[in-house]
Amino acid sequence: MRGLRRVLGRLATRRRPLAPVSRTSRGAPRLIRREDGESRCVACVLCAGACPSRCIVVEAGPPPGGDGIDQRARVPRRFELDLGRCLLCGLCEAACPEAAISLSGPTLLPSAPNAEDMQLDLDALLATA
Ligand code: SF4
Ligand code: SF4
Repeated sequence: MRGLRRVLGRLATRRRPLAPVSRTSRGAPRLIRREDGESRCVACVLCAGACPSRCIVVEAGPPPGGDGIDQRARVPRRFELDLGRCLLCGLCEAACPEAAISLSGPTLLPSAPNAEDMQLDLDALLATA
């Protein structure tokens, strides 16, 4: 019986070889500010579309004082990222045409006692920028 388990174990490992686990982390996603202090994000939603765990929600709105007709002038009215579901894969960073979202580098990742506290809003995502 033990021999059969060993053979089945080897077959399973051959089909799905174990990937090496990195000791370093690229950190968690954060939003980046422009030089004037405002978010670089133009609410194009490409990051949300690229995210495999669907943990980004972006709603666009006109900038303060703007009419929203110029698409390039849009800003995120709502930007939320559920860090509890984030895979730290960096696909959002790769998809962003404005370099507005970036993984924070090899820092300690935030943790929270409940799932709601892992839901980061615009201010929280800009806080470390
Ligand atoms: S790092 Fe990956 S999983 Fe996390 S928000 Fe970005 S695309 Fe989604
Ligand atoms: S972070 Fe980048 S990809 Fe995501 S909505 Fe903003 S500008 Fe678009």
